[in-house]
Amino acid sequence: MKPKDIAELLDEPACEHNTKSKSGCARPKPGAAAGGCCFDGAQIALLPIADVAHVVHGSIACAGSSWDNRGSRSSGPKLYKRGLTTDLTEQDVIMGRGEKRLFHSIKQAIDSHAPEAVFVYNTCVPALVGDDIEAVCKAAAARWGVPVVPVDAAGFYGTKNLGNRIAGEAMVKYVIGTREPDPVPAHLQRDGITVHDIALIGEYNIAGELWHVLPLFDELGLRVLGSLSGDARFREVQTMHRAQVNMMVCSKAMINVARKLRESYGTPWFEGSFYGVRDMGQALRDFARLIDDPSLTRRTEALIEREEARIHTALAPWRARLEGRKALLYTGGVKAWSIVSALQDLGMEVVATSTRKSTEDDKAKIRELMGDKTRMLDESQGPRALIDMVHETGTDVLIAGGRNMYTSLKARIPFLHINQEREHAYAGYEGMITFARQLAQTIESPVWKAVRTPAPWDMALGVAAE
Ligand code: SF4
Repeated sequence: MKPKDIAELLDEPACEHNTKSKSGCARPKPGAAAGGCCFDGAQIALLPIADVAHVVHGSIACAGSSWDNRGSRSSGPKLYKRGLTTDLTEQDVIMGRGEKRLFHSIKQAIDSHAPEAVFVYNTCVPALVGDDIEAVCKAAAARWGVPVVPVDAAGFYGTKNLGNRIAGEAMVKYVIGTREPDPVPAHLQRDGITVHDIALIGEYNIAGELWHVLPLFDELGLRVLGSLSGDARFREVQTMHRAQVNMMVCSKAMINVARKLRESYGTPWFEGSFYGVRDMGQALRDFARLIDDPSLTRRTEALIEREEARIHTALAPWRARLEGRKALLYTGGVKAWSIVSALQDLGMEVVATSTRKSTEDDKAKIRELMGDKTRMLDESQGPRALIDMVHETGTDVLIAGGRNMYTSLKARIPFLHINQEREHAYAGYEGMITFARQLAQTIESPVWKAVRTPAPWDMALGVAAE
């Protein structure tokens, strides 16, 4: 990728922060890729497209270290779970065999797996050597008649966020708009109801959470044409240009996709979240508002009223157990605000939230939800600082990614796993019940009392509890 293309992606005109500040989006700083490089960002953005062969062009460590690091689920094909790589060696680099190796790897992926398409991810070594992956992909597509999409997001180009944008850019350039949608399926057709097409951008179906939301769309007569990229199929992504409204789910990381689809096809978009009762209702209302069909608006309000009444009753016992409890949210990115809202719906207090990898808009949302005194943790906190903060604020539960799990467990602090590898689905009204249950179970688990009490033999020696 040329430096000018990277600069363009960092200077996103649709990003509010970018118009307010001369500096544009965060440019990579030394160490910025420590939480995931640009390649990692591109791969996790597209990997959930389940029927595609995702080939990583580079040394085996790039594919090995990032393989399956997101708990996205598929309701059908499992090809996306296969780690495919060109496995470049020192000899390949010295002998200039990278492009040839890539060409053969694409052939092998097509011969062995008959994928709907092949995505080729560039990484640092071939990018430095100068392999022309775009030309190889073009030649391979022409030779075998299968779409082959280059995703030129080598790790050193920048951060994970930039990788998300490059991935989105590749979809806009090579995939979206290359096919027309199928006819509306029979299960969505009902008398007096017009079916409207929508698309989701930045939704990854972690732990299958999109399946909590899809029945609501079905009921309202909203067909999800395609998603970037939770439980997606290649042929669905191809038709996303026909959506009447796009929803940016939780993040502006792929805002370039929403902007370009608006510019090219006039599709309006909004940013929303499926986490929490309020945000779930708001997302449904935003679809109805932008589609502007009075029947849809009426049915949406009725559905929200019914679901909120149901969820209010279902959450009552959990809210009684969780109300007033304090949580420290240490995750960053979009979850820094979307989970705050869900916690507040349960009557919990968020004592601090981490804003690493959050955009300026994410931070503005946090201020809106938590007020100006919000404690935002901008930089990475060491384990000691994190534990001190938990004790200082009287936090009941640390909500963070797997990387902080052992810090929390060793310090005997209740912990809830929130990042992309998690096992539980928290989106939608149903997800809210799971979220409340998991929080209550971890906070109230008898294990904390047991591990904080001195061992009997220590007690016999008069050693005090910590
Ligand atoms: S793409 Fe580059 S930074 Fe990313 S894992 Fe591979 S070598 Fe490391």
